[in-house]
Amino acid sequence: MKKYNFNAGPSILPREVIEATAQACLDFNGSGLSLMEISHRAKDFQPVMDEAVALMKELLDIPEGYAVIFLGGGASLQFCQVPYNFLEKKAAYLNTGVWAKKAIKEAKLFGEVVEVASSAESTYTFIPKGYTVPADADYFHITTNNTIYGTEIRKDPDSPVPLVADMSSDILSRPIDVSKYNCIYGGAQKNLSMAGVTFVIVKEDALGKVSRPIPTMLDYRTHVEKGSMFNTPPVVPVYCALQNLKWVKKMGGVEAMDRRANERACILYDEIDRNKLFRGTVEAEDRSVMNICFVMKDEYKDLEADFMKFATDHGMVGVKGHRSVGGFRASCYNAMSVEGVQALVACMQEFERVH
Ligand SMILES: *Cc1c(COP(=O)(O)O)cnc(C)c1O
Repeated sequence: MKKYNFNAGPSILPREVIEATAQACLDFNGSGLSLMEISHRAKDFQPVMDEAVALMKELLDIPEGYAVIFLGGGASLQFCQVPYNFLEKKAAYLNTGVWAKKAIKEAKLFGEVVEVASSAESTYTFIPKGYTVPADADYFHITTNNTIYGTEIRKDPDSPVPLVADMSSDILSRPIDVSKYNCIYGGAQKNLSMAGVTFVIVKEDALGKVSRPIPTMLDYRTHVEKGSMFNTPPVVPVYCALQNLKWVKKMGGVEAMDRRANERACILYDEIDRNKLFRGTVEAEDRSVMNICFVMKDEYKDLEADFMKFATDHGMVGVKGHRSVGGFRASCYNAMSVEGVQALVACMQEFERVH
C-alpha cells in the first residue's frame, strides 16, 4: 500500500533528494569515500556549501547585503541567538503559539520584551490583528507559520521596525520580501532538509549594534565571515538541503511551491468544511497551508480513534494532531503531492459514508 507522509517534522522530502543524499553517504562524487568521511574543508565540499547558499539567495530573491548561513542548534537555539545579536533595549514579539512563547522566554533574558498581542487565551486559534508595534523596538519578531496550531501569516506584515521571523515550517513555500527583515531563521527539518541544520538569513549591516559581548559561536558575524565554516558544519544535512533546493528550482521555484501549497490546502479545507464529521480548528482567514488542523465535530467525538485507525490503515502517516490541539493535523510541506491530499480526502469521504 502506498504511504502518504503527513508528519509535522521531521517530515516528507522528495524521494530523489533522499536518494541523492543516501548515494553521497555511500560514495561522494565518485571519490570512493562517504560524505561523512571527508573534511568539510575538502575542495569537493566547498562547492556544496557555496551552491546551497547561492540557491537560497536565488530562490528567495534575497537582496544584496544579506548573508545566508547554516548552523547547528535548531530553531530553538535561534530563540536566544536572535536577541543576543539584535536586542539592545527592547524588542516586540507577537505571541501566536508555543514556538513564539519559547522565543519570548529567551528574549526576556536580554532586555525588555513587549508582547504586542497574543491569541493564547483562545488556544492560538487565530493570528492577532490591529496591534501596535512600538517604534523604538529593536525588532519585531513573528512566527510566520504556527506548526502546532495551524495558523499562518502568509503575507509579510508592515512594521515600523525591522522584522525578525521564525520561518521553520513555511520557508521556501512562498515568495518573501526579505528586505522587510533583519533576520529569518528556521530548523531545516520541515521544509528544507533533514534535521541537524539551521538556516539563518541575516542583514549584514544590522549586526554589531548591541553593546554586550557575544560568545564567538553565538555571534552571527563569526559565521558570516567564515561562510558557515568557522567550525565543522553539519555536512550531510547541508548536502541534503542543496539537493532539495535544486528540486525546488526544478519544480518552478517558490512561486510554484506557493501554487502547489494553495492547491493542496484548498482541496483539504474544502473537504473539512463539507464533511459532516469534521471541522477546522482555526479562524478561516488565518488557516495555514502547511499544517492543516481539524477535529471531529462534537457530536462525533467518539469516532476520533476510529478515524485515526481507518486513516492509518489506508496509508496515511502522521495525521494525529499535536497533543495540545487533539484531533488531526495533516502537514502538507513542499514535497507533499496533490495526490497525497486527495488520498486523505478520499479516506475522509469513505469514513463519512460508513458512519
Ligand atoms: C519545529 C519548529 C521549531 C523548533 O525547531 P528545532 O529545530 O527543533 O529547534 C521552532 N519553530 C517552529 C515554527 C517550528 O515549526
